[in-house]
Amino acid sequence: MKTRKVKILVPQNLRLEENDCACSTKIAFVPENQILQGVLIRALKLDYQEIYSGYKLVFNPQLGNGLAILTSTGWNILNSFSNSRHITPQEDKEVVKKMIDLGFLAVENDMQKAESFPFFASLSAWLHLTDRCNLRCSYCYLPHVREDMSSETGRAAVDAIFRSALANGFKQVKLKYAGGEPLLRFSLIEELYTYAGQLSEANGIELEGVVLSNGTLLTAEMIETLKSLGLRLMISLDGLGQYHDSHRPYAGGRGTFADVSEAVDLALAHGLVPSISVTVSSRTAEGLPQVMAWILERDMPFSLNFYRENELSASHEDMQLDEKKIINGMLAAFKVIEQNPPRRSFLGGVVDRSNLTASHTHTCGVGQNYLVFDQNGQVAKCQMQIRKPVTDVHAADPLALIRADQIGIQNLPVLEKEGCKTCEWKHWCAGGCPLTTHRATGRYDVKSPNCNIYKALFPEAVRLEGLRLLKYQDDPEVVVKL
Ligand code: SF4
Ligand code: SF4
Repeated sequence: MKTRKVKILVPQNLRLEENDCACSTKIAFVPENQILQGVLIRALKLDYQEIYSGYKLVFNPQLGNGLAILTSTGWNILNSFSNSRHITPQEDKEVVKKMIDLGFLAVENDMQKAESFPFFASLSAWLHLTDRCNLRCSYCYLPHVREDMSSETGRAAVDAIFRSALANGFKQVKLKYAGGEPLLRFSLIEELYTYAGQLSEANGIELEGVVLSNGTLLTAEMIETLKSLGLRLMISLDGLGQYHDSHRPYAGGRGTFADVSEAVDLALAHGLVPSISVTVSSRTAEGLPQVMAWILERDMPFSLNFYRENELSASHEDMQLDEKKIINGMLAAFKVIEQNPPRRSFLGGVVDRSNLTASHTHTCGVGQNYLVFDQNGQVAKCQMQIRKPVTDVHAADPLALIRADQIGIQNLPVLEKEGCKTCEWKHWCAGGCPLTTHRATGRYDVKSPNCNIYKALFPEAVRLEGLRLLKYQDDPEVVVKL
């Protein structure tokens, strides 16, 4: 029997990891059920690294979904499309389709569509269940007024979300239960998710949800309830011991690390794997390798997010992002990943708000597919601007008003940002958080102040993913071999 030569190794299950922000939207440039016969196909300009003799890690941060390792056979196939040509009947169509999906090959005339058809996977909504919190994190942007969302306001918010989802053709709604500390309002989480489930079923719109928590109030009963509802859990943990405590103390000043780490282990013991959100500042960057080892030991998904200064945190000068400190801390954490690569891909959360799993035009969903409901039913564009509402729960289609707003935060496409247009990473990075850029420069139409950090980290992040693919190449749950 003839053995089929492996041509390409592709990661399974690429996904954007949980963090506070709204998901970026992907560029849908590959028509579904693409017919390859009779069309001209050509290779695009690509980046690659020789990761191991005969194995090239190939990626296109300008277009496409993710990256892959090509064997020499795969590399030869790719190069055979240097000049546009038709596919032959003998060729492996699955491999060619995969290379189109990855942005390595393109069907002539499809390129224009890439910029013009952003694909909105789902409508995300932040539900600010309470402004209260038992912690006083150094970077928190909330005043912590003693106000909770009522059941009536919560239900009206869920109604409004589904109205906008239907009016704008969304197939999926994602609810983010947040605050303040949402576990202070656990019964409202249950109530609203059950209610949203009814609307989801009645309207044929998929539903998913996540609780964004500091972890300290988590109990075994809550974990069982989250599991039975099908809700995910994200816990913030910024380092081990002192590093975490220096960012995230209780209101009384005591450190929270011991309680948070206990909560993580409790969730794991009950079969709920939380996603860990790590906020990185110059104060904690040095401790990143240790927390990364801790996360990988427990085999949890994670996201590494850069501290974003706000009015309330500006006095903490030691948290400001010092390029050298952040790059060194991140690279040291990457070394830990290299020594113990996880089975699941980390491309969706390893470098701040970048998303290396799919090309996209905007950093996040602000102004496009994101609604932020405060405790009183006011609707804002971003959780960090929750006190600058644009509309409220009573609007017929709150998303239409959010999209039309010209006054608040402007989330421009990356091609409209000075300094980003010609950047090779532009469709993975999309120019960074618009709020951070505006705070640093007074402009939205310019590249991120963290640009140098991003550019130093992207090549290392993709190299790590290449090593992961090689390590798990014989595990079909991790790597697809074609
Ligand atoms: S912020 Fe920098 S790395 Fe990101 S797209 Fe713009 S130029 Fe490229
Ligand atoms: S504007 Fe910045 S803080 Fe707000 S959702 Fe987007 S990336 Fe996050």
